[in-house]
Amino acid sequence: MKLTILGFYGGYPAHEIGTSSYLIQSNGFNLLLDCGSGAMLSLEQKLNPLNLDAVVLSHYHQDHIADVGVLQYDWQINGDEVSKALPIYGPKIDQEAFSKLTWADATVGVGYTNGEVVEIGPFVFEFIETIHPVPAYAMKITESATGKVFVFTADTAYDEKLNTISQNADLLMTDTNFFNDKVGKKWHMTAGESGRFARINHVKRLLLTHLPAMGSHELLKQQAELEAGEDVTVLLAEKYLKVIL
Ligand SMILES: [Zn+2]
Ligand SMILES: [Zn+2]
Repeated sequence: MKLTILGFYGGYPAHEIGTSSYLIQSNGFNLLLDCGSGAMLSLEQKLNPLNLDAVVLSHYHQDHIADVGVLQYDWQINGDEVSKALPIYGPKIDQEAFSKLTWADATVGVGYTNGEVVEIGPFVFEFIETIHPVPAYAMKITESATGKVFVFTADTAYDEKLNTISQNADLLMTDTNFFNDKVGKKWHMTAGESGRFARINHVKRLLLTHLPAMGSHELLKQQAELEAGEDVTVLLAEKYLKVIL
């Protein structure tokens, strides 16, 4: 499978780069993982949004869903070009937010719940609820044809419950919104926590995302590397970075 980063900031777009949004492709299937601010503009550089096959949303915070509405308008206005509705997978538990995923015969909401395993095209998704102010779901994404495993923590505080889906992952992408000196309540991981989580789960590669708009990302990477140890390759999210699994 191929992962392309479309946007990687947490909270709000900055420095001409949007918030959480990733394109995952396998065998001609195009899946948009989260659809944050700026996702449509970035996606259009890589793919006609009408060629999406599915969208999966980790939770309903705006930095993960801000562009869902305009994606729905694209499919509504240009829907004659495609003879299907675009499935948008989202947590079922927030019924009001979930109901908005279905729009004008253009898109249709498909709900998922904690612990559910769902086949989506060439992938199998397993969803696990994280520690976050609203229901949010980490996901283990397995490419059926190859068995390659990509784990996305979504937004979460440090949570070893996610070990169940993370062990030996080919790629682990973590919410790394904080530097190690963050004090007070944390709804996201620090760089050191991301590194430690990668090390104890023996993942091959760690990709830091949901990055803060302020501060040095190189420092964030160094803090993660220190905890991750020598066996884990640490990557920093960049716009349009491609990772092949
Ligand atoms: Zn977020
Ligand atoms: Zn969030």
